[in-house]
Formats: sequence, structure tokens, C-alpha cells
Amino acid sequence: MAGFTLKTYPCVYIAKYDGQNWEGESIFNPHKSPEEEAQLSEKDSELLFNKRNNFLDLPLINYTTQYGLGCFEGLKAFPQKDGSFKIFRPDENAKRFKNSMEGLKMPGCPEELFLDGLKDFMVKNIELGFFPKYDENWEKDKYLSGHSIYVRPFSYSEAAIGLGLSKKPWVIMVATEVGAYFSSTSSKAVTTNKIRATKNGTGWIKCNANYVIPTLAKKEAEAEGYMEAIFLDHESQKYVEEGSSCNIFFRLKDNTLVTPALGETILPGITRKSIIQLAKDEGIKVEERKISIKEAMNEAKEVFVSGTAAGLTHIGSITHNGKTAKFGDEKIGELSLHLLEQLKGIQYGAIEDKHNWMFKL
Ligand SMILES: *Cc1c(COP(=O)(O)O)cnc(C)c1O
Repeated sequence: MAGFTLKTYPCVYIAKYDGQNWEGESIFNPHKSPEEEAQLSEKDSELLFNKRNNFLDLPLINYTTQYGLGCFEGLKAFPQKDGSFKIFRPDENAKRFKNSMEGLKMPGCPEELFLDGLKDFMVKNIELGFFPKYDENWEKDKYLSGHSIYVRPFSYSEAAIGLGLSKKPWVIMVATEVGAYFSSTSSKAVTTNKIRATKNGTGWIKCNANYVIPTLAKKEAEAEGYMEAIFLDHESQKYVEEGSSCNIFFRLKDNTLVTPALGETILPGITRKSIIQLAKDEGIKVEERKISIKEAMNEAKEVFVSGTAAGLTHIGSITHNGKTAKFGDEKIGELSLHLLEQLKGIQYGAIEDKHNWMFKL
């Protein structure tokens, strides 16, 4: 089982702003027991999941489906050894989601509603038996093979045609089980000359529209045998900004950990923020600043990208203008692996959660 799939859990949260108030509830989509669902033929299983993904009385024509006016989040809950579940930094997602909605000039989902709704629909899925069971085998590889619940909250506009702003959006949350997100066999990255984000644009918002260009760039890179596309700044095409939908880090030969500073064109990743904290906790010098592709290729000894889906994925080499720089032996570096294990350890409850990042369900 890899990343996010369409095999969503039956319970979904849906909230609506009516112009004055937000009101939300958890609803149940067609389902059988988890055991029965596991026994279904491939065809019946597909029918069931299709039904589950075609359920709400949501308008077909609206600002989101027509003009990309929508935003989303991604967060995870982790099974703990004692049978409970903990969510990783949902308060941060709640805050960012509100900022994203307001950035798109629609009423922002209140953080409290986000957190209450999240808790409610997740507990309901768990009560139905839909959750990954804690497996002691995960301890053997420090949870790199661990499963978790991926939650995807997103906004959806009211019916509309013609350009306009959403005044009465929905907020919907769905969940699905995700397994270890093994990166493809390749860990090679290549720079793209496509532009993800510009000054005075929407680069800092986690919005649907921002995913168009990175998807094109990533698929282009994959077609050439690379795993990831790296975006450079739009003005000079000299400085590194992000991966295709993740933040990027460089461990330099002098052991400093460098990541591009946040700004209008860089998405404030929660994994990014957490990795910076974990590195600082270990006494590692962390710099949030501009880093040129030249410096990155000459001075880095470990490179990785970060995001909720993968946690931390190492980059073995970067190709830019026909030149390739390899990092270490192209395997995950020592510090990268250590930080990933720290993060996973905290998420699965094996390492002390010093910063109170984990919210109990
Ligand atoms: C979501 C996202 C990230 C990673 O954010 P996390 O909160 O760590 O998941 C990084 N870059 C972009 C462009 C993103 O959309």
C-alpha cells in the first residue's frame, strides 16, 4: 500500500458556511464491515469505492470545478502501541487551512470547527473498524514501514458560473489508510524551468491551482527517468525553491542544514517546520535562507524533500543544465535518516513528544 488512494473510509465530515454560521456533521457513505470489504472481488470493491466517491449533493458547476478556486490540507493520524490514535500537529493544519481559504478570499474555516470535525469523523471511522492496526513489526525498522490514516480536508465552492469568489463554501474531510510511502527506485531529481509560484501570486497558499504546474513538471521529470522535479525562483532561475509539492533541505559539507526561507513563493510546510525544530533540538545549525542551485550542487552532501505524504524522502542526485551532482552514495544520508526516524518515532509514540505535537483522538 503506497500513498493516498481512493479507498476512502466510509465516514466523511462535511461543513457548510451559510453566510453567517458554519455548521458541520459527519456522514456515512455506503459501506460494509472492514472484513467484508476486504473480501470483495476487485470489481465489487471498485463499485463500492466509486459509490463512496460520488455521494454528496454538491454542485457540479462551481468555482472549484471550473476555475480551480479551492484549497486543501493533508495530515496524518498514527496508531499507537496502546491501541489509541494520535494526530500529528492538526492545529497547524487548521491554521494553514484557514489562511489558505482567506487567501482565496473566501470565509475561513474556524480552527475549532476544523479540529472538532476532524476528531468526530475520525472517531466514527475507527468505531466502525476502519483504521490501521498497530503492528509491532514496524518497530524493527523504526516505523519506516508503519501505516497511518491520511486525512484530506478540502474546500468546495457553492454553485456558480462566471468569475467570482466563493462566499458560502463547504469544507469536506475524507480519510484513507496509507502504508509506507516507498519512494520509487529512483532518487534522482532534475531542475525544471517551469515556474510554480511568482511574487504577488498564490505560492504560499495550499491551493488546487498551485498543483497544475508541479504535476506537469513532475510527470515530465518522471518520463525522463527522474523521481522529482526541483523548482527554481521565477526571477533569476538561480535559487532553489521547492520540490514538486514538498519543501527541500540541503545538508552542506560543513554540516549546516539549509532550507529556502519562507516567502510568498514557498509553501510553509508543517513537516519542514518540524524538521527544523528536530534538527535544532540536536544542536544542528539550521539556516533558512536563499540557496543557489550552484551552491546546492557543489556544497551539499545530503539532500531531502519533506511533506506529510512522504515525511522525508532523500534525493540522491540533482541534474541541472545537463550537469549532475551526486550526494553521498545516493542512499539516504545519515542525518536525513536520523531526522526521519525521530519524526516517525514521535508520531508512533516511541520517542518522547517534547513539543506536544501529537493530539490524542
Ligand atoms: C503541502 C505542501 C508542502 C508540504 O507541507 P506539509 O505541511 O509538510 O505536508 C510543501 N510544498 C507544497 C507546495 C505543498 O503544497
